[in-house]
Amino acid sequence: MVFDLNKCLGCQTCTISCKRQWTRDEGMDNQWWAVVNTMPGKGTPKNWEGMGGGWNEKGEPNPSRIPLRDEYGDAWTFNKEEIFYGGKGKESHLKPVNAKGEAPDWGPNWDEDEGGGEYPNSHFFYLPRICNHCTHPACLEACPRGAIYKRDEDGIVLVNDKQCKGFRFCMEACPYKRIYYNHVRDVAQKCIFCFPRIEKGVAPACARQCPGRLRFVGYLDDENGPIHKLVHKWKVALPLHEEHGTQPNVYYVPPLSPPSVDINGKVDLSKPRIPLDYLQGLFGPRVEEVLAVLQAEKEKKAKGLPSELMDTLIVYKWPEDIFPDFVQDPAQL
Ligand code: SF4
Ligand code: SF4
Repeated sequence: MVFDLNKCLGCQTCTISCKRQWTRDEGMDNQWWAVVNTMPGKGTPKNWEGMGGGWNEKGEPNPSRIPLRDEYGDAWTFNKEEIFYGGKGKESHLKPVNAKGEAPDWGPNWDEDEGGGEYPNSHFFYLPRICNHCTHPACLEACPRGAIYKRDEDGIVLVNDKQCKGFRFCMEACPYKRIYYNHVRDVAQKCIFCFPRIEKGVAPACARQCPGRLRFVGYLDDENGPIHKLVHKWKVALPLHEEHGTQPNVYYVPPLSPPSVDINGKVDLSKPRIPLDYLQGLFGPRVEEVLAVLQAEKEKKAKGLPSELMDTLIVYKWPEDIFPDFVQDPAQL
């Protein structure tokens, strides 16, 4: 999958479409296989970027820890009975309570729209995250039960829940912390890239429902497909925290930003609002080059000149331009 971060609205339609489809069973209340975090921010689970995992330069596992349930954000309930049916609608407000019966102090997307920087250069952008279905998945190699496998036909990484015994070595190993523990069934659970839909030519729910049309789906080796064009031909889609060594198969077109301004409103064209070193910390050293290509192609397009890259990113024809191999309408099946 490729996410064009210049198009994400932060609407969370993807998050909800995944939640409604896959994580409604017992023990899955706190699971959000697809999340959209505000960056700079602490993310989901909280501060996952500092937890370790993945592989070091020698190919050995990096020290890591299992995120706590609170760090993912525990499931909440609300006093709906009292407000909607208990006659207290006028004096009471809707209040969330976590599994411990306390007011929550963290949850997925808790720091929505906070971002970073100081006025007048405050900034943020949205970062959608799913399991990266890595080529060298640390979760798979860490599992002593052989319960995690990567499908040959499409590279989707799955957990066999009959084999899984809930040891959670996978959660420790995954540097993206995209695996959840089901405390009721004692198994690990994670994004399945909507494989039952993929098998029927339907795009994953998060991608099909996305109103921003930024989630491209396809095969890296299909030279006519958008994924190959964005990752290999135009080289504008980069993996997140590639340094973890798991070779993610989710890529990001980094966000452009307006120039910074001083307190009197004077524009400094040499400094983008989102600091370059912050983006390099996420997407690696090629960010500057990628942003320059995006800017140049954008300017070409604005002048009426042809740009294959901009045409690919714009997605004129939906769904065939964005997931050409998965255009089947689920309502028609
Ligand atoms: S993102 Fe994590 S859970 Fe997903 S395949 Fe990679 S290592 Fe495994
Ligand atoms: S549905 Fe699309 S636009 Fe909305 S938050 Fe998800 S990725 Fe962003």
